[in-house]
Amino acid sequence: MIIIMKPQATEEQIGSLCQDLSRQGMQVQRNAGVDCTVLGVLGDVAKLDPHDFLIQPGVERVMPVSEPFKKANRKFHPTDSVIDCGGVKIGGKEKIAVMAGPCSIESEEQALRIAQGVKAGGATLFRGGAYKPRTSPYSFQGMKAEGLELLSEAKKKTGLPIVTEIMSIGHLDLFEDVDVIQVGARNMQNFEMLAEIGKCRKPILLKRGLANTIEEWLMSAEYIMSGGNENVILCERGIRTFETATRNTFDVSAIPVLHNLTHLPVIADPSHASGKSSLIKPLAKSAVAAGADGLMIEVHPEPSKALCHGAQSLTPDAFDDVMTDVKKLCEFENKTL
Ligand code: PEP
Ligand code: MN
Repeated sequence: MIIIMKPQATEEQIGSLCQDLSRQGMQVQRNAGVDCTVLGVLGDVAKLDPHDFLIQPGVERVMPVSEPFKKANRKFHPTDSVIDCGGVKIGGKEKIAVMAGPCSIESEEQALRIAQGVKAGGATLFRGGAYKPRTSPYSFQGMKAEGLELLSEAKKKTGLPIVTEIMSIGHLDLFEDVDVIQVGARNMQNFEMLAEIGKCRKPILLKRGLANTIEEWLMSAEYIMSGGNENVILCERGIRTFETATRNTFDVSAIPVLHNLTHLPVIADPSHASGKSSLIKPLAKSAVAAGADGLMIEVHPEPSKALCHGAQSLTPDAFDDVMTDVKKLCEFENKTL
């Protein structure tokens, strides 16, 4: 971190700031320029908040020179992390993982039928919601614990690892058989939840918050990783913008930006990003072309009757069609499913 002092900063102000930084365990390099003094701060600067220094007398500007995330940072871990999700590896340069299933589990028959359908289409993980974060309290809230049991049943019958969202840390014990725990967009900054799931060792699928920057998202990954759980997968699911033609705006650039900044795998969710089934194919293809390590796609046999997110759900046939193109792109990229 670099602190630029005001030209009129007094020796006393500079000295007291240097002492304060040393007390916090930092090394300070003082550079007296023609107009002003510049302080180079070395050490574990991640624990310092640059804003705290702006209110110190005599300080003109503070410039962080390194990212505040350490464990997620590619600088300290140059190779891609590959995360074992119940036997399916996510991350690295060789494979694309596809997790697909209904927005919410609705019945035993529905769960099994979709799990078998998406497996036949090439999905490698089955994803379905048991606890649903709905904007309205009057909307279907998911089958909850019963939904988790139906997911387990589908896993037993198809062999596909299961992915599902956690809404409360109090439910963690019920997630024993879950292979990948999803933290949804609305909980991306539920810091207590992030710290708690950082204590377990299950893969965590961390979705991007509705209006969060890439750095905030990586800091949330850092919460999980600093607890000891390094198995974090990031999921771009669209962000809020002024555009209303789509449910959210799919930030495809987040994929290569993240690959530069972090070693963690990055997958894309064209379903929640667009809100429209007709847009899933082009967005899924754009994500794979941008280097995504996987996709999350919502599938329902009768989208018009789905209890949640029917408009963005593909029928199993439409899913097969998307997968045909995704497979072609994978070949082109020298990757396999
Ligand atoms: C979901 O994955 O079903 C979901 C609600 O997504 P998000 O948290 O991205 O809105
Ligand atoms: Mn959904």
